[in-house]
Amino acid sequence: MEIKELERVEYAGVFGKVSQLGHEQVVFCYDEATGLKAIIAIHNTVLGPALGGTRMWNYANEHEALTDVLRLSRGMTYKASISGLNLGGGKAVIIGDAKTMKTEAFLRRFGKFVNSLNGKYITAEDVNMKTADMEYISMETKHVTGLSEARGGGGDPSPVTAYGVYLGMKATTKKVFGSDNLEGKKIAVQGVGQVGMYLVEHLVKENAKVFITDIHEEKVKALAQKFGVTGVGQDEIYDLDVDIYAPCALGATLNDATIPRLKCRVIAGAANNQLKDEVKNGYQLIDRGIAYAPDFLINAGGLINVYNEFLGNYNRKNVFEQAEKIYDTCLNILHLAEREKITSQEAAIKLSEKRIEEVGRIRISR
Ligand code: NAD
Repeated sequence: MEIKELERVEYAGVFGKVSQLGHEQVVFCYDEATGLKAIIAIHNTVLGPALGGTRMWNYANEHEALTDVLRLSRGMTYKASISGLNLGGGKAVIIGDAKTMKTEAFLRRFGKFVNSLNGKYITAEDVNMKTADMEYISMETKHVTGLSEARGGGGDPSPVTAYGVYLGMKATTKKVFGSDNLEGKKIAVQGVGQVGMYLVEHLVKENAKVFITDIHEEKVKALAQKFGVTGVGQDEIYDLDVDIYAPCALGATLNDATIPRLKCRVIAGAANNQLKDEVKNGYQLIDRGIAYAPDFLINAGGLINVYNEFLGNYNRKNVFEQAEKIYDTCLNILHLAEREKITSQEAAIKLSEKRIEEVGRIRISR
């Protein structure tokens, strides 16, 4: 890189950002031969090694990638803590086009970077990273989880995630309606991918009246027919007269534009970072009388699944049993939020931080 270009890099901005969210360590990985550019962010390792997936994305610039990895790794710290797991929070992003850049050497080089952290960071699949990619990474490091069942892994985490979302939805329904029975409840599911589809299955079994949408219209048609549910348009989902909205596609769908349109009383879904502005949009939901099940709590089933794989002696039945705790935790958080007049997201973060602080204290005390 030319000196002139180096001068333009905003060094102060990088350290400013890293210190803002309390990260322990951020590793910039570069390999000229393969073109690999990755950032590994370790947010907090008080409870255990930092576990979090690797996301590959064509970020508009490096600062966007840094912001994403810092935000996502902090989320993993809270998710592990609130779920009672002995894990810290971390995440990695690879900058570039997942369709053209992922060669064997590229992925193995990334694996070597993960390995250089000696287990302080454990990686897994995330957006644009497939099981086959993880297998190349695992050739260079044992600090990988979320492998296929054929490779001794726990397999698809989506059914566990969907089960946790379903239980979080029931707990929130209990808080709002006095009963957690979903029979006859009108529920809008946005995104019928891996998690959304399994969620719909649970809801249909309980005789809820389900509406689904997705960008893939043919998928909506096929699932509507398979489950006897109603397919609706992508934008229409926000205006439906429903009891429950389940965002299972993208983040930030709870924002200034959508919240005034919602008629539901409960929001419970799988997507990460559903609130565009955690504080402002969280309080807007309270003002509109809508109860929100914190996303990082109720979608923790996938993390519970890979954590069990990481511990060894993986047992699918135990994993589902552990995910059942989401119901009580969700209810406790909703009560705490009400008592303290804070948002459920703030209450969940408060409980996560409390556990990290308390465990951290006993670990340094003699
Ligand atoms: P997926 O990619 O299989 O499914 C997402 C679905 O949403 C796709 O069918 C996609 O077409 C659809 N979609 C995208 N944009 C949309 C839009 N604007 N409107 C309607 N539909 C749209 O992903 P998944 O594994 O089912 O995960 C769903 C969400 O849950 C993601 O946000 C993911 O990060 C989160 N999550 C998943 C897991 C897991 O175990 N898979 C765990 C935790 C969190």
